[in-house]
Amino acid sequence: MRTAVVVGGASGIGWASARALAADGYRVVVADLNGDAATARATELGDPHRGEVVDVADESSVATLFETIGACDAVVSCAGFSTFGPIVDLPVEQFRSVVDVCLTGAFIVAKYAGRHLVDGGSLVLISSLNARQPAIGMSAYCSAKAGLSMLTQVAALELAPRGIRVNAVAPGFVLTPLTEGAALVPGVVEEYVENTPLGRSGTPEDVAEAVLYLTKAAWLTGEVLDLNGGAHLKRYPDILGHLTKLGAP
Ligand code: NAD
Repeated sequence: MRTAVVVGGASGIGWASARALAADGYRVVVADLNGDAATARATELGDPHRGEVVDVADESSVATLFETIGACDAVVSCAGFSTFGPIVDLPVEQFRSVVDVCLTGAFIVAKYAGRHLVDGGSLVLISSLNARQPAIGMSAYCSAKAGLSMLTQVAALELAPRGIRVNAVAPGFVLTPLTEGAALVPGVVEEYVENTPLGRSGTPEDVAEAVLYLTKAAWLTGEVLDLNGGAHLKRYPDILGHLTKLGAP
């Protein structure tokens, strides 16, 4: 049976990806900072799936995860979060904490995935529309995701000799626990949808479908797939502007 590891798999896009991979016949390891949630998700999927705790910001934690699993066929790297605040006010620790998870964490996952994936395996990283579209107040997240898109291409070059394909999905706005704060700000989702040619935000299942495609696409590597209803053709919502209208500091 093929094995897939979904890092950051206990919630949102990662959880939808774990379900899609399980339905495709993989034995799925749901790995997450929230180990209890990972175990609960694996229990929901049933036998032979399992949950593991991991912190992508900690190299030894990621190394232990992959040593415990052994050889794997597909790895999906979903862990991520964002902070919000203008550059002139953002504490540098907050900037670093986002880069630590979204970029350095993805590098660490790629490092151990590269060691443990079978020849011909697949690594899928979750980037973001913000890798190419700047958003006021999201300097750390935008910078980390832009770096992640380039990491995808370098890893694709380095792992190609073993037939391992490395691709990324760069989703636009998807309602998950990560975005529920922004979605509560009046006008934000509306502005996203107004600037999205296909006229809607995304679902975790939209992204999972693309993740599954990337695990299968035998002639595709080094690709960062924009998946956002066409929003990359227009502009990102001004979250700070909407917050200011609300009278927030
Ligand atoms: P989410 O908050 O629902 O899920 C993120 C998961 O990552 C959580 O289960 C969390 O526990 C886990 N995680 C956080 N830090 C971790 C760490 N240090 N080690 C291991 N696991 C960790 O968010 P989501 O929206 O599903 O986001 C998944 C990925 O998709 C993220 O990389 C995010 O940046 C990206 N993304 C999301 C959107 C969106 O609109 N939701 C858009 C573009 C990209």
